[in-house]
Amino acid sequence: THFGFETVAEADKARRVRGVFDAVAKRYDIMNDLMSGGVHRLWKAALIDWMNPAKGTHLLDVAGGTGDIACRFLDRTGPDARVTVVDINAEMELVGRDRAIDQGRLNIGWAVGDAEKLPVKDRSVDYVTIAFGIRNVTRIPLALKEMRRVLKPGGRFICLEFSKVVIPGLDQIYEEYSFKAIPRIGKLVTGNADAYQYLVESIRRFPDQDTFAKMIAEAGFERVQVRNLTGGVAALHSGWRL
Ligand code: SAM
Repeated sequence: THFGFETVAEADKARRVRGVFDAVAKRYDIMNDLMSGGVHRLWKAALIDWMNPAKGTHLLDVAGGTGDIACRFLDRTGPDARVTVVDINAEMELVGRDRAIDQGRLNIGWAVGDAEKLPVKDRSVDYVTIAFGIRNVTRIPLALKEMRRVLKPGGRFICLEFSKVVIPGLDQIYEEYSFKAIPRIGKLVTGNADAYQYLVESIRRFPDQDTFAKMIAEAGFERVQVRNLTGGVAALHSGWRL
């Protein structure tokens, strides 16, 4: 099925290094909390609030990692709702899948796949989200078209991503923090400063709010809107397939 349980099972060959991936995934969650001071939780809550999803609906969460958005969505939408998580990294998903099963959540399907070529049928889901994932995608316009393709007409797309700080003064503090503190925290916690240096640079390279809104409209979405979070440190972009 397009839920891809088989695909995840195939990745079980990675089990011998399972301990390592568990450690990476756990550190990934801790890093999110450390680097954002826990604020990423508020941003994810803001995404779900703006979406205000209807009961019993179907979400596709692209680059869903360990299933954070999926769980928040299901907490709001009742027992008949379901989520398909697609991520390019099977190990992140395996950790998320285990955690979800431990919590008794059986209505999440985990598929390994690329945002640029989603393993999901046309016009099949009510909502599509991507949180802190679009920045990592190589061909963003292609991924946006894919996310529109799988939405039912009337369906909604919401993206959560780092953006451009819009408050004078805060931008300098943020630059200072991100260029110095983030690679240092990254090195302390994971032993890898380079990966976190890359993270900071990828945030810098990512288009600002208006530019990204235009890209979303160019992919065919309508009623494109933006909401800044924490003065534009992050932003939510919303668009509809009408
Ligand atoms: N959405 C989760 C969250 O907010 O906690 C995870 C975000 S994590 C920063 C980025 C995720 O994007 C990783 O799990 C990574 O494997 C995934 N990813 C990167 N490139 C991708 C692509 N082209 N297609 C699908 N997933 C991708």
